[in-house]
Amino acid sequence: MTKRALITGVAGQDGTYLSRLLLENGYDVYGIVGPVPGDFMDWAQREPRLHALHADMTDSASLRAAVVESRPHEVYNFAAVSSVGQSWTHGELVVDVNAAGVVRMLEALRDLAPDAHFCQASSAEIFGKAVSAPQDENTPVRPVSPYGSSKAYAHFMVQNYRDARGMFACNAILYNHESVMRPPTFVTRKITRAAAAIKLGLQSELRLGNLDAKRDWGFAGDYVRALWLMLNAQAPDDYVVASGNANTVRDLARAAFSHVSLNYEQYVVVDPEFFRPLDPDVLMGDAGKARRELGWEPTITFEELIAMMVEADLAELGASGVGGEPR
Ligand code: GDP
Repeated sequence: MTKRALITGVAGQDGTYLSRLLLENGYDVYGIVGPVPGDFMDWAQREPRLHALHADMTDSASLRAAVVESRPHEVYNFAAVSSVGQSWTHGELVVDVNAAGVVRMLEALRDLAPDAHFCQASSAEIFGKAVSAPQDENTPVRPVSPYGSSKAYAHFMVQNYRDARGMFACNAILYNHESVMRPPTFVTRKITRAAAAIKLGLQSELRLGNLDAKRDWGFAGDYVRALWLMLNAQAPDDYVVASGNANTVRDLARAAFSHVSLNYEQYVVVDPEFFRPLDPDVLMGDAGKARRELGWEPTITFEELIAMMVEADLAELGASGVGGEPR
């Protein structure tokens, strides 16, 4: 039997990596695209098992129609206002999409596809000013941003629907996960793009906020595999998905600039504009449960990830390779 998966936020980084994985594994993939489908529509035209559906997390009728059309065995929710920084200026939309949207989807599934397995892209930001590091599935939830608060609400609702309604609903507590598809609103891509641009003489400085923030950065391609494993496990549960290593934003800048033989200290300028009203100090996850119970392992290290992103930025900005002095 061919399995069918429904993916919200399919045109984004995680939706794209998960679609590739599921197509490779013989699924029919139904992807919900929002107003900015990017390259997804071209891809769907070339790939007969990839179907684009138009729906919106703020509109339950459209979600119900998507569930009816896809008749999913598995549902993955990546649709979100995904930037913590931007959530401070889009508070109401964040609640509607990231929090209420998940309830709309859970209700649609309860009515129309009660046996479907559901995975919510939960977030390390639910731990906020975390009481301990590394965090695991039992760490108290205490978010410190509109984004983290919306993800915390969704996280609890997934647990409620699992416990009270008997649904196969899981939370993947995702730590920062990056790739060449990350937009430059995120600090990884902002830094790798700037290191490449400075190397090529296209930019002269890089303005950043909190250099001491410590995050656990991994590769998106590895993380979506964990979600798939969760929905194919014996029972639904919540799992931290993380590398277990934390680096500061400063470490990230050092790694990206040294990949193109530059010293970040000569180019990075700290700018108050990029500080957040509140910012967790250290988010570092313990993915021991996912390793033990799901057999999940990340394959790409922090250094490899940053190198991959800088190389992609050099290629995109027109370089043939690294080495030598900046022009
Ligand atoms: P997110 O906070 O998980 O959505 O991921 P980001 O990549 O946006 O931010 C990760 C960390 O980098 C946060 O602690 C930010 O405060 C910090 N940071 C420092 N400077 C910057 C910057 O210029 N842009 C962004 N986006 N984050 C920055």
